[in-house]
Amino acid sequence: MRLDLRDIIHVPGAVKEFTFDLDLSDLEFYGDKPIEEPVHVQGKVVNRAGLLLLEAEMSSNLHLRCDSCGRPFQRVKTVSVQRMLATELQDQEDDDIILLDGSVLDVGEVLTEEYVLEMDTKNLCREDCKGICPGCGVDLNTEPCKCKPDIDPRFSALASLLE
Ligand SMILES: [Zn+2]
Ligand SMILES: [Zn+2]
Repeated sequence: MRLDLRDIIHVPGAVKEFTFDLDLSDLEFYGDKPIEEPVHVQGKVVNRAGLLLLEAEMSSNLHLRCDSCGRPFQRVKTVSVQRMLATELQDQEDDDIILLDGSVLDVGEVLTEEYVLEMDTKNLCREDCKGICPGCGVDLNTEPCKCKPDIDPRFSALASLLE
């Protein structure tokens, strides 16, 4: 998605709005492709007293796998973006400013990058997910651990007497 800003680039107060869907379903994160569904994008570029400002909100229902228990789950991920745009860079060091290609902003590319950067490195199905027992392999969210309790050798003789 490329946005031509020619109409607003020299017009203080002018606004250009956009909405589109990003298809990021091919992007892999740790072997999974969680952005199965389209990322809905809504935003605008505003000429604020001669400065161009990109504002956008992106949202998608992610299909994730819990890092603790391995269960699939879904979560809506919303990312808000506010970036300055410029036709030329005054200071090469300034990474915050997005350089236009003439009067054109490749808004699809810029926002893809922003969304990907906000993806979480760790995903839990819920804050207090108890995970899988490494001993018996049960999902501790739904079942109690089946591991036999370790018996103190001093008591094992006693335990065998009681059996
Ligand atoms: Zn979990
Ligand atoms: Zn166990």
